[in-house]
Amino acid sequence: MKVGVVRERAPAERRVALVPELIGKYQAAGLEVLVEAGAGAGALIPDSAYAAAGATVVPTEALYAQADVVLRVAKPDADEVASLRPGQAVIGLLTPLIDPATAKTLADRGVTAISLDALPRTLSSAQTMDALSSQANVGGYKAVLIAAVAYGRYFPLLTTAAGTAKPANVLILGIGVAGLQAIGTARRLGAIVKAYDVRKETKEQAESLGAGFIVLKSAVDATGEGGYARALTPEEQKAQVDELNGHIATMDVVITTAQVPGRRPPLLVTADAVRAMKSGSVIVDMAASALGGNVELSQAGETIVTENGVTIIAPDNLPASMPAGASAFYARNMYELVHHLVKDGALPLDMSDEITAATVIATGGAVVQEATRKLLEPAPPAGGAA
Ligand code: NAD
Repeated sequence: MKVGVVRERAPAERRVALVPELIGKYQAAGLEVLVEAGAGAGALIPDSAYAAAGATVVPTEALYAQADVVLRVAKPDADEVASLRPGQAVIGLLTPLIDPATAKTLADRGVTAISLDALPRTLSSAQTMDALSSQANVGGYKAVLIAAVAYGRYFPLLTTAAGTAKPANVLILGIGVAGLQAIGTARRLGAIVKAYDVRKETKEQAESLGAGFIVLKSAVDATGEGGYARALTPEEQKAQVDELNGHIATMDVVITTAQVPGRRPPLLVTADAVRAMKSGSVIVDMAASALGGNVELSQAGETIVTENGVTIIAPDNLPASMPAGASAFYARNMYELVHHLVKDGALPLDMSDEITAATVIATGGAVVQEATRKLLEPAPPAGGAA
């Protein structure tokens, strides 16, 4: 069986689904490795490095014609979907819950679609495959570096002959994988770090990394299913925002990472809160997307400076901005999933296996993952019968 690694086409997507160091592992599992010419260019991995490690570098057409399983990072665009053929499988971060239509098109083409973002993350045997965590980790790290570069002062306490620089006060909102990495990175840069999350268990995690945990008087434990948070009620949300405003006003840097699965990210930093911040403060909204973000004024993919001198950065696809490091982790996650799915050089798809059942979105001409299938059902007519 042949696995084929494609060159990503999405704008600014510089990651790649395979790094040369893992080619030997694929071969040891009985798989032949094809690499589309230029696949590693965004991460500065030359074709020659893949070839030297034992892969066959091929042009685009040959890749799609010969590969049994196509490995990729982001979901395929319309042209790439059209290049896939019946019986072929594609594995990547296909985001079927955001874009169920692509899953349906793949199913209609007879392509098996397997999505790393559908992995059951709390399963300990799936941890090495957890691409959402590995990429959130990269994002949390990079968000702090971006904030430090945008901040016109020092992060650490610095005593020099020319005077003393006070350490930056950094607030991390949302203490999941990205938030924990952001706390660790900001601490390593010498900042004074505070953090806040609606899941109770995060207090100890934040404190173990040297951050002070903000306890709100209005706090509720909003731990949801699978280690995620549940959405707050409008009343809980208002109380949270009102209380957070006071803390935000005293901060030099705020990094927001809060997400609720399947929902618009919660609003944590209002326009009023930004107006109360000091000139020169910096906010990085990691949750910002076309759906909105954690910061009322953030604009996805843009950096703005408010009238009162606060820089609000809403970076797009942070992991892709650190392509070699992010690809190394992602490629390992991908290899572990492929290794788990492949048996005797074939892809039998044993749906009684928890990881297989969760990650296979489409196969045999149909969308098989329930959550994606539900999204594809026609909406009931407005005001229709109860
Ligand atoms: P996520 O990206 O869904 O959300 C980021 C954080 O935002 C979460 O910590 C969430 O609680 C927080 N949040 C949501 N609404 C908020 C609000 N209104 N105010 C403040 N914070 C809010 O989360 P994630 O990083 O993907 O992971 C969530 C959890 O799952 C983490 O605890 C992580 O450790 C856990 N996890 C466990 C495993 C495992 O058990 N193997 C694997 C991966 C993740």
